[in-house]
Amino acid sequence: MNLLIMGPPGAGKGTQAETLAQELQITNISTGDMFREAIRQGTEMGKKAKEYMEMGELVPDSVVVGITRERLSQPDCARGFLLDGFPRTVVQAEALEDMLETMGIVLDGVINIAVPREKLLERLTGRRICRNCGASYHLRYNKPKVENKCDACGGELYQRSDDNEVVVNNRLDIYESKTEPLIDYYASRSLLKNINGDQDIEKVLADILASLGK
Ligand code: ADP
Ligand code: AMP
Repeated sequence: MNLLIMGPPGAGKGTQAETLAQELQITNISTGDMFREAIRQGTEMGKKAKEYMEMGELVPDSVVVGITRERLSQPDCARGFLLDGFPRTVVQAEALEDMLETMGIVLDGVINIAVPREKLLERLTGRRICRNCGASYHLRYNKPKVENKCDACGGELYQRSDDNEVVVNNRLDIYESKTEPLIDYYASRSLLKNINGDQDIEKVLADILASLGK
């Protein structure tokens, strides 16, 4: 199964993608995680992406399309993939359509997680991420069993530098102007699965699986 997971920053894409990819035995790909790893390793691409990410701006389409194309051509994507955080613009969606066609890959569905904007600021400012495996927690809504430690791997939790109020508001504005139009784009291709993300994490997962006929 080849899927996209969409929604505003803080909607719960990463949280759901982790479980969903395991459940469906497909490869989980997050462009945000790929950029954070490139920054950590100090690569040229990481240096380029960092200035955009710190301001909450989108990394240029040409850069993101290039790394996604490369990633999707790797062998572990042949068993199916779940793409989180890409596409984020109509240009990226068109590029994805072209690359999948060239590769002979069919997209099976686009999961769109909806959460009202007023809830997203609290979700993002309270978010904590595992430095080791990237798992997402929340100080109130999804606490780790041991404070500051990842349940899955024991890694240290940290706060993303772009999860502060000023940058979050910019990211939400950009989502509304650049990414939200993709809802119509995928609805018109009959691929969209609309999910209410303003529910418990377990219920959101159950709704996603049901929308996929699982
Ligand atoms: P995204 O990948 O869409 O930006 P995350 O999956 O990282 O979002 O979730 C954002 C924050 O909200 C995290 O702190 C996460 O633990 C929390 N969260 C995720 N899903 C829910 C939910 N259904 N209810 C409450 N909090 C949630
Ligand atoms: P995320 O981890 O999905 O919240 O992404 C974090 C940041 O990475 C975003 O705010 C962007 O700066 C950058 N980014 C990730 N994916 C994309 C994309 N598809 N297009 C442009 N920028 C992206």
